[in-house]
Amino acid sequence: MALLKTRPSRDDTAGLPKVSFEFFPPKSEAMEQSLWQSIERLAPISPTFVSVTYGAGGSTRERTHATVNRLLEETRLVPAAHLTCVGAQRNEVDEIVANYWQMGVRHIVALRGDPQSGMDAAYEPEPGAYINAADLVAGIARIADFDISVSAYPEKHPESATVEADIDMLQAKVDGGAHRAITQFFFDNDVYFRYLDRVRARGIDIPIVPGILPVVHFDRMCSFAEKCGTHVPGWMADRFDGLDNDPETRQLVAAAVAAEQVIDLLDRGVDTFHFYTMNKADLVYAICRLLGLGRTGLLQTSSTG
Ligand code: FAD
Repeated sequence: MALLKTRPSRDDTAGLPKVSFEFFPPKSEAMEQSLWQSIERLAPISPTFVSVTYGAGGSTRERTHATVNRLLEETRLVPAAHLTCVGAQRNEVDEIVANYWQMGVRHIVALRGDPQSGMDAAYEPEPGAYINAADLVAGIARIADFDISVSAYPEKHPESATVEADIDMLQAKVDGGAHRAITQFFFDNDVYFRYLDRVRARGIDIPIVPGILPVVHFDRMCSFAEKCGTHVPGWMADRFDGLDNDPETRQLVAAAVAAEQVIDLLDRGVDTFHFYTMNKADLVYAICRLLGLGRTGLLQTSSTG
């Protein structure tokens, strides 16, 4: 099993993988507390950045800003603010971007987004709005010298006719000023490497960082994966089968599945990972430890406080 092959040695601090973490803005006091516990737990891993999502159609605008602001004020972590252009006028979006720059935010994850009515609703850019993610990226780059991340879809975006059409959009985002792409979550690493080959064959050379989703609830993940166009292999269903009422075993299986995926990517040359944390630290923390990160013997600099 790949897990046994790669074990960063105690002295091997230079070649350690780089990671980033994604969180969503909390809706309630209780969720706020659990988010900040997770952030505190994961801070010693020293992520390159931590990103904060923007709810469908900009529905979490204020909460996203508040979370990013708190990260800036209370931690030494580097925040990346997700921003979508769906359902908003250019000038509103530009104002948010300029405000982020003023606050000290230097990294934006720029997305078209889904309409507030949900992922199933057809996308129609409104007059006066940025028309897609590439247009948004170019707009952000015109405002200030941001680090800009964008999305990538190894299994193609559900609205896209072909993977090549998706790569056309990725190219347009790179032309607009994107510095890296973060992929939609996937479970079959061969799919990621096939996509990477096609992207590189088109001459796109920005990092294509794999987005890793440790599975917390298998059934919920499956319905989300279906909407996103992510294939869930049959072997995963077998591993989680019958564990609905057995959270401890489910957690162990989830850790093993995600660890196998990440270590296999590492063995095949990937050195940067983006984790969809779902605001939960345990699984991600454990996987990062397997990657050799977060050891107290290493001089970690980024942390909360
Ligand atoms: P784009 O890159 O503009 O488009 C994706 C693909 O869809 C393109 O390749 C294009 O070929 C195709 N496409 C787009 N429009 C059309 C069309 N009209 N007809 C045919 N094909 C089309 N959503 C949020 O609301 N908030 C977030 O914070 C957020 N964060 C995300 C982070 C990551 C890393 C990823 C991968 C996704 C995230 N999303 C988020 C989801 C994203 O907003 C949706 O997938 C949305 O549907 C597309 O946005 P995009 O920027 O990926 O679109």
